[in-house]
Amino acid sequence: MATKRQQAYQDVLNRTPKHIEYNGKLSELFGQNVFHMEVMREYLPSEAFKSMVESIQNGTQLDRKMADQVASAMKDWALTKGATHYTHWFQPLTGATAEKHDAFFKPVGPGKAIESFNGDLLVQQEPDASSFPNGGIRNTFEARGYTAWDPSSPAFVIGKTLCIPTIFISYTGESLDYKMPLLKALHAVDQAAVEVCQYFDKNVTKVNATLGWEQEFFLIDQALFNARPDLMMTGRALFGHAAAKGQQLEDHYFGSIPDRVAAFMREYETESLKLGIPVTTRHNEVAPNQFECAPIFEECNLANDHNLLLMDVMEKIARKHNFRVLFHEKPFAGVNGSGKHNNWSLSTNTGVNLLAPGKNPKSNLQFLTFFVNTIKAIHDNSDILRAAIASAGNDHRLGANEAPPAIISAFIGSQLSSLLDDIEKNVKSGKMTPEDKTELKLNIGKIPQILLDNTDRNRTSPFAFTGNKFEFRAVGSTANCSSAMIVLNTIMAKQLKGFKKSVDARIDKGEGKDEAILKELQKLIKESKKIRFEGNGYGEEWRIEAEKRGLSNLKDTPRALKVWGEKKVSALFDEMGVLTPRELEARKEIEFENYILKIQIEARIMGDVVQSMIIPSVIEYQNKLIANVQGLINVLGDKAGKEAAKGQIELIQRISVHLNQMKHAADHMLKERKAANQIEHAEEKAEAYCDKVKIHFDEIRYHADKLELLIDDEMWPLPKFREMLFTR
Ligand code: ADP
Ligand code: MG
Repeated sequence: MATKRQQAYQDVLNRTPKHIEYNGKLSELFGQNVFHMEVMREYLPSEAFKSMVESIQNGTQLDRKMADQVASAMKDWALTKGATHYTHWFQPLTGATAEKHDAFFKPVGPGKAIESFNGDLLVQQEPDASSFPNGGIRNTFEARGYTAWDPSSPAFVIGKTLCIPTIFISYTGESLDYKMPLLKALHAVDQAAVEVCQYFDKNVTKVNATLGWEQEFFLIDQALFNARPDLMMTGRALFGHAAAKGQQLEDHYFGSIPDRVAAFMREYETESLKLGIPVTTRHNEVAPNQFECAPIFEECNLANDHNLLLMDVMEKIARKHNFRVLFHEKPFAGVNGSGKHNNWSLSTNTGVNLLAPGKNPKSNLQFLTFFVNTIKAIHDNSDILRAAIASAGNDHRLGANEAPPAIISAFIGSQLSSLLDDIEKNVKSGKMTPEDKTELKLNIGKIPQILLDNTDRNRTSPFAFTGNKFEFRAVGSTANCSSAMIVLNTIMAKQLKGFKKSVDARIDKGEGKDEAILKELQKLIKESKKIRFEGNGYGEEWRIEAEKRGLSNLKDTPRALKVWGEKKVSALFDEMGVLTPRELEARKEIEFENYILKIQIEARIMGDVVQSMIIPSVIEYQNKLIANVQGLINVLGDKAGKEAAKGQIELIQRISVHLNQMKHAADHMLKERKAANQIEHAEEKAEAYCDKVKIHFDEIRYHADKLELLIDDEMWPLPKFREMLFTR
């Protein structure tokens, strides 16, 4: 009888691409299922439309009457799209999105019903949320949380459901999600950046953070996925010897996309475009069966909603094509892991990208201001940024010589490095003469408008300037970008506020505006120098150099998360109005908890697979060898038989050695897991899981992978890497 693995493999070989073709123009699809501005203009009375625009642009609250009108328009529009239900769509701290569906349907008398939806239902909903993580917030106060409408992100229809983006909060008003603090951080950076922009242009009244994410993922066949309990339960292969061919040839990168995969991509792209997600780029990634998808950048909150929506759409569509999408940061040891680069910048209502050099000295001084302040913000808060990207999955990636190291640094390229060095040396400390000023202006005017030089890119830096934006590369592929974006925008807001204060103080003392700005920038350049690094971030030299510079190198999640407990960190988030100390404390608990759960599940699955899949198959094969040896002895006699069976006997012994050591390590791990479970305190428990439980994974796997090579291919129970990564 064929094993599950063999059946699965047969399924894969029989697959054909499922072309679900759309032959029209893509532009015609765009935003089809979104309740966007143009639809609102059509469906809303003009007064309500105006309030909506006002609310979207300035975050003002809609009054009851207007909310009713918007709800009714939304419903009418959604019905034309075939929707029967609506849901508040939110982002609990589990990392996934959540929804609870209710019907538009409302009985209005015997045998009579109408489709109904009103402002109350639009604005607020009470999901039964007791099972979402809350870090103790809801337990001590009110048992329930509620969701509240975020008008700045448009509603959309998926299938037969109208989805309304919402924040998720406790009854006491504390955030239990990613969206609420993100909106607050975006508000903080908006206010702080507008004030600084006033030095350069009085017309700036609004600054938006922009986000362009690049989503990496693996695709594997559904049948193979289902034959691997580790992938099903944890999203990563806990076992598996590397295939004879890995990514050495780099033939997958930018190679042609296989037909079955292309069919899948076309379908999820079509669906994404209908949802208003501007996906434009797709290509193969470095590892076999690894791909990337990227949209055009958007306002940060919207871009993040779109990322979560896309992940959801991809998962659903993948199943239709008999694929599974793996968003895990490191599904397969030995080949590259997956990240989610977060390209970030700030842009004004006047259409200026504040991180793009301009055409003249004045706009370049504005560029330099935002550029240098970003570097200083990273310098002062690198540990918070590190904590923002910490997760059990990302631990496999950071510092593994394929992704940025766990040491946070910033790369800016040679041209800008020398410009900053210049300012550092040449801005005079005393009063500047007119000649000094002219000379400096000339230098600043020399910043080329286009810095997008491909030769001057550094792929090993966690935080790199790429010509007109910073690219935060250390974000994990499963992450909600908000984690990183909340921190980045909050620390930027704090930095810009401080900058404004210092420059104003200089101006009050009689310095000219440009001079005050330049002198302040010079100070920031000096103070933040140690965070700048232009070399190879993967090298051992950098680790040593970084240590000398006093930069942190927080290697694992439990260590990285500790920073949430620091007084100055909670003071920062509190001051910027993003998270109260209580909210931050709750988040810290949840993140430690998430880490513990992830490692706990991996440990359990590892134990199960060893015990119930690997050991039985190994024994079966070993018995075959033993029978063969006994047979040879029967036929040839003891001495000659043993001589003839030398190879088999050696194999039997080698198998025993690995089996025993694997089992020994698994038993040891189990003992440590039980001990860790006795620990009450989340932080200590996470450390125990990291240092005492997870530490055995490599040893268990080492022996299991050796056994994979030793036993009969027909008998090995788990789909092998070559099958998962090289069959389409
Ligand atoms: P890479 O070489 O890292 O793959 P790409 O050019 O593919 O870089 O990706 C650049 C990404 O940066 C795109 O997703 C794009 O939308 C985004 N991007 C470009 N300009 C901005 C900006 N001003 N703000 C945020 N993201 C941006
Ligand atoms: Mg990139």
